[in-house]
Amino acid sequence: MAASPSHLSLQSVQPGSKHIVVCGGGVIGACTAYFLSQNKKSQTSVTVIEKSSPACAASGKAGGFLALDWCDGGPMSSLARASFKLHKSLSQKLNGEEVYGYRALTTLSVPVLSERIASSSSSSRGSNLLPDWVDGDTARPAKQIGTTETTAQVHPRLFTQTLLSASEAKVIKGEVETIIVENGHATGVVLKGNKEVIPADAVVLALGPWSNRLSPISELFSVSGLKAHSIVLRPAEPDRITPHALFLSYQPAPGAKMLDPEVYPRPTGEVYICGMSKDADVPEDPESITGETKSIEMLHKIAGTVSSHLKRDRVAEVIAEQACFLPCTDDGLPVIGELPGVKNCYVATGHSCWGILNGPATGASLAELILEGKSKTVDLKPFTPARFVKRRTRLGV
Ligand SMILES: Cc1cc2nc3c(=O)[nH]c(=O)nc-3n(C[C@H](O)[C@H](O)[C@H](O)COP(=O)(O)OP(=O)(O)OC[C@H]3O[C@@H](n4cnc5c(N)ncnc54)[C@H](O)[C@@H]3O)c2cc1C
Repeated sequence: MAASPSHLSLQSVQPGSKHIVVCGGGVIGACTAYFLSQNKKSQTSVTVIEKSSPACAASGKAGGFLALDWCDGGPMSSLARASFKLHKSLSQKLNGEEVYGYRALTTLSVPVLSERIASSSSSSRGSNLLPDWVDGDTARPAKQIGTTETTAQVHPRLFTQTLLSASEAKVIKGEVETIIVENGHATGVVLKGNKEVIPADAVVLALGPWSNRLSPISELFSVSGLKAHSIVLRPAEPDRITPHALFLSYQPAPGAKMLDPEVYPRPTGEVYICGMSKDADVPEDPESITGETKSIEMLHKIAGTVSSHLKRDRVAEVIAEQACFLPCTDDGLPVIGELPGVKNCYVATGHSCWGILNGPATGASLAELILEGKSKTVDLKPFTPARFVKRRTRLGV
């Protein structure tokens, strides 16, 4: 239930403790709230402000795939490796296997033929790496690209909700409209339709693809949304579906652009399939985001081609047909750190297709930066928002 700002400041903030306001209840906001609450260096109370409901956007509709070393060789390597390890320890601490479907996976790259191409070429069943339920036409042998040591999964909505609830943060439903800045310091936020300030010792902006609708982010850098589609199916014989994640390559017709959908069976017996991404405007209301029929139909077609267990209606019940937005920055890297020129105002966004993986190390590092003045879990330098000041100065903006 929503609390009024004046009540919040009186009831939930203990004297002597720091009050941190986290804006956005996606995986990044939830992980930040969790690690703020776990930090023993400072007495902290956390309030999370979410415009709709926690995990209503990409953090509830993502695949939940985790990889140890797929970001190696680039600036995200340490963030990803630290996050992968934190996912494992969080699962042990929070009973992740039962509560949010954490489990190790074998991951395969599988080239799939469309029906039209398959009928005119000599396709084979690929290789014996394929589990029995992947009984569609494959063009070349499947390749193993992840082991149970290096790839895993969570149910993203349940993971986000679990971390938020374990943080014991106060959750307020409301839209953050203004960050109050006094003498170069963030001192609170104001919600749409309210006049009172929710006071804060620090403000964290974790607003996903909505991030740059808010000043002071909007003056510094842009975050765009890449729309991606997904379907969730419940096969009639869930016990036949093994914990294998599939990275497909699929050509709908000869000469057509290759598609690269992903298939993630979940411990609940459901199978999640995603792909079909494109640039699109991010609507104001996260609840109003719907999938486009053509993209959803293509995902059903691919699912039915790769496995007879995933053919809609006849053998698989349709649980969800949906879309959501990846938060993307211009340089392809997340933005994590204090905003230049606004003390105590922090940002954590732009995690693109790796937000569920990288939530834990993002939250842990940001909590250390806010409460201890320095991040220890991961060096946040490559992700500093200050890089955009240098870029703007160079461009003379
Ligand atoms: C189809 C798909 C599959 C994916 N699969 C994977 C995967 O397998 N593994 C992986 O690691 N990542 C995956 N991702 C990426 C991942 O989902 C995102 O990187 C991550 O969810 C981003 O989290 P976030 O908290 O930054 O943003 P969001 O989840 O978008 O959360 C932002 C929140 O802020 C709220 N908000 C916005 N404006 C305001 C405001 N003014 N006031 C208050 N609240 C506000 C919104 O309502 C929303 O709840 C996938 C993404 C997509 C689209």
